[in-house]
Amino acid sequence: MGAALVALPRVARATGGLDVGGAVKEPAVRILLASGANIPPPDQLDAWYFAWNGRTYRGGFAFVPLLGGKQGLIDVVPLDSYLYGVVSSEVSPAWPAEAQKAQAILARTYVTTKLRPDKPYDVVATDSDQHYGGIDGESVEGRGAVDATAGKIVTYAGSIAHVAFSACCGGRTADSADVWSASVPYLLSFADPHCAGTPAYRWEARVPYAAVQQRLDLGRAGALRSVQLRELGSSLRPRQLAFAGSAATVEVGTDQFRSAAGAAVVRSTFLRGVTPSGDDLLVTGNGRGHGVGMCQWGAREMAAAGSSAAEIVAFYFPKTALG
Ligand SMILES: [Zn+2]
Repeated sequence: MGAALVALPRVARATGGLDVGGAVKEPAVRILLASGANIPPPDQLDAWYFAWNGRTYRGGFAFVPLLGGKQGLIDVVPLDSYLYGVVSSEVSPAWPAEAQKAQAILARTYVTTKLRPDKPYDVVATDSDQHYGGIDGESVEGRGAVDATAGKIVTYAGSIAHVAFSACCGGRTADSADVWSASVPYLLSFADPHCAGTPAYRWEARVPYAAVQQRLDLGRAGALRSVQLRELGSSLRPRQLAFAGSAATVEVGTDQFRSAAGAAVVRSTFLRGVTPSGDDLLVTGNGRGHGVGMCQWGAREMAAAGSSAAEIVAFYFPKTALG
């Protein structure tokens, strides 16, 4: 199929004064919407919008060749139009405005570090990068948060910071060194008093032992007696689980355990207890997601208590500045 690159339209700003001199000079973002062999072609509605797979998107589309002979469908939009489709896909438009603004600043900072003109696309539309829902993922409030923070990004020592966020840290943020083996001076572990009591703060799950036993090859432990959490580290998240059975004790990485049980069931690696209970493991933990950087529920509570977006960013990314 021929690659029909549609020219990037000039997009009128939702707010602000006249753009004297014509085109808004904003970097374009290329978002991968789909990849595969037979992607149905989008329908370009006019110079500004196209429809695809039941959704409407700003900008123009293009098909690009990917590795392995696959094809990619990308959406090409100005950076802030991309953010319109991200902010309300990440946090609710009903949340306090300053929390949405903090999310907009992080989303802008994140994508700015991902622009890579030498590659066929910059970001994917899922939470591998950031949720991007096109126009259907936008809201008046989310667009307002993007406009109100126009141009603002998080910097550290004069460079663009590598930011991260997750739904809820469970009362203590995680050090990036513990989660990604990369030490970053402003992605540290510290107590977060703000998210206590929010919906994702504490959780409990029953995990059928037979399924994880098979996936993690735990049969050699024999009859399971107890499970210990090991190597808590500064982030207080155990790195290893020790399954003590009648025949042996078998150690398993917490990440492996989480993916074997299902990341939606075991919602974080901030485990507090794993206890055999009948045919199940009773698992208790804190938070949802990796816990590095901004805690979205904590940001919501800070904003509700009167903190500004700048104060929220300064709390979760110590030693950084807004540029
Ligand atoms: Zn938190």
